[in-house]
Amino acid sequence: MLTVGFIGIGTMGRDMALNLIAAGHRVQVHDVVAAAARSLADHGAAVADSIADAAAGADLVVTMLPDTPQVEEVLLGPGGLAEHPPAGGVVVDMSTISPEATRRMHAALARVGVSLLDGPVSGGPIGAKNGTLSIMIGGDQAAFEKARPALEAMGKTIVHVGPTGAGQTAKLCNQIMVGLNLQAVCEALALGRAAGVDLEVLRQVMLGGSAASWMLDKMGPAMIAKDDKAGFRIDLMLKDLRLVGELAFSVGLPLPGTALVTSQYLDARAHGEGGLGNQALFRVYDRMSNQGE
Ligand code: NAD
Repeated sequence: MLTVGFIGIGTMGRDMALNLIAAGHRVQVHDVVAAAARSLADHGAAVADSIADAAAGADLVVTMLPDTPQVEEVLLGPGGLAEHPPAGGVVVDMSTISPEATRRMHAALARVGVSLLDGPVSGGPIGAKNGTLSIMIGGDQAAFEKARPALEAMGKTIVHVGPTGAGQTAKLCNQIMVGLNLQAVCEALALGRAAGVDLEVLRQVMLGGSAASWMLDKMGPAMIAKDDKAGFRIDLMLKDLRLVGELAFSVGLPLPGTALVTSQYLDARAHGEGGLGNQALFRVYDRMSNQGE
């Protein structure tokens, strides 16, 4: 069993930390919002008031933070992990951030003897809760083996994709699939609705054939019921699509499908829907087909 520092007790981090505790690891939790960390005290976590306390005596530290700037602050900022490295010398950043920034931070932490793994996840809040996330690891194989028992408490599919940054690159490819699959579901449901077909019947029959997809299966019911409660927020998806765009620019690759769906997510945000779940992309199609409330 490991001692794990866990920084970023948000939508995903909270359940991931709970799964680490359930697997028997000692978990030291920290969040810039102190109440978020404190909420895990009754569940067996040690509450850490600082990054240094979260890392103290830890075999590894996991970060689960919104975006690149927050990860940079926690890793390299004043009072951060470069100044207070975990005893075991391993940090796993499970946030979705820039692969290029990940490589820079890996080099900076290597100078203080810490191995940074990138380990972004797919599977959303349900995967975090059930411990069934898909985890995409980039970085050093030996550090990966050290972290493996902790990763196994949080995920089911755990793949070492390649060197530092490769995990984040895989996650960005994953997000292209997420965006375009969701767009495909929206478009099929929008046409079915406009042409007068029962959407649940349509969903069922499509699930039985070559149109079946995770999105249609898991998000279709919420889309049909107009249940837009936040799961994976549109604002977070736009952050990921921004990272996809930056990577595509850096390698000079046109991504026409991604460009279109990014515009549709921006349309959603412009209509005040950034805080809604991903499935609210269907509202964009409501507006195009005059099917709003
Ligand atoms: P969240 O905003 O719910 O949680 C982030 C947490 O980090 C918050 O509790 C916040 O207070 C904390 N935080 C921010 N800055 C901090 C700092 N400097 N020091 C300490 N704590 C700080 O976000 P989330 O939904 O849990 O997502 C986290 C990451 O996982 C993101 O990169 C996201 O893209 C990725 N992700 C999210 C989902 C999802 O469905 N929500 C799915 C896969 C991947």
